[in-house]
Amino acid sequence: MNHLVNDIEVIKSKATKIHDVDFDNLAFGKVYTDHMLECNFKNGKWEEPKVVPYQPIILDPSAKIFHYGQSVFEGMKAYKDNNDDVWLFRPVDNFKRLNISSKRLAMPELPEAYFMEGLKTLLQVDKDWIPKKEGSSLYVRPFVFASGKGFHASPADEYKFIIACAPSGAYFAGKIKVLIEEKYSRSANGGVGYAKAGGNYAGQFYPTQLAIEKGYNQVIWTDDVNHENIEEAGAMNIFIRINDTLITAPTSDRILDGITRKSIIAIAEDKGIPVEVRTIKVHEVVEAAKNGSLKEMFGAGTAAVVSPISGFGYKDKDFSLPELENNYASYLKKRITDIQTNKAEDPFGWRYKV
Ligand SMILES: *Cc1c(COP(=O)(O)O)cnc(C)c1O
Repeated sequence: MNHLVNDIEVIKSKATKIHDVDFDNLAFGKVYTDHMLECNFKNGKWEEPKVVPYQPIILDPSAKIFHYGQSVFEGMKAYKDNNDDVWLFRPVDNFKRLNISSKRLAMPELPEAYFMEGLKTLLQVDKDWIPKKEGSSLYVRPFVFASGKGFHASPADEYKFIIACAPSGAYFAGKIKVLIEEKYSRSANGGVGYAKAGGNYAGQFYPTQLAIEKGYNQVIWTDDVNHENIEEAGAMNIFIRINDTLITAPTSDRILDGITRKSIIAIAEDKGIPVEVRTIKVHEVVEAAKNGSLKEMFGAGTAAVVSPISGFGYKDKDFSLPELENNYASYLKKRITDIQTNKAEDPFGWRYKV
């Protein structure tokens, strides 16, 4: 039966899969809800989005996504509080960034209402799937890709925008050990590093596999010219604490403008922690590790929120970080997640009620 929610057409699935899901033992992003949002770009415009049953997508073998990689995505989380109210975190920033990414890949930008109303409608329809357990959330994955046909190497004339959701447990278990990259690059000046493009991830997998074979969990990306500056931690932004100062690299062509990153900067400044947004030299971090002033390193991103680093490898040497009791990483993670889950006041106005 079809009906309208928030002016968006909803085609309900005939049955629910929710009873097959073990909500106490959720992995990350492995099971999907009953519905998805679907919106097609055809004849030069976006058609009205619809909520439809979650289902496979049928594409022509010549669809340009397969050949020329026009594909961008976002990652966000929805939370349910003790009153069963549903919350998002800075979702308009995800919308804006999706369009920034699309533009860089010569893909059409979405109207804000299609993204926001589509997202809210989908979350209302699949509300029962949003976990309440501590550390769990509904991971929300909006994405846009080229569905139009043709082997000609040019932008497609048709696209699909989809939002799929996966109830998820915590992303990373423990602390991670990282390898400072000296050969491969994630991004370059003038490139697509600032876009959340699927291809950026494809290019990261091989160097990351090599690091894993050497016993590390992730790669620390450095600048593509001389590998002298620290830029990102895997698919997360990076923070480094030297003495009491928290340092992160400035955003650029090469560095993704993370929503977690900018929230951490604001929370740290609010707490009176000295924050420096500046170039971080590899040799500075190695020196700090040697003289004991390197106190913490952590990655920041939606999936893990804050992912503490236990040590790093550089030029065949391993350096380990101290275990600090009152560390910034735990404070910042708690402060952010308390705001996200409506457990604390939100002086920044980041929380968004669905
Ligand atoms: C998504 C992503 C981040 C984190 O961004 P958030 O908005 O905080 O989730 C950082 N770096 C890269 C390369 C990313 O793809």
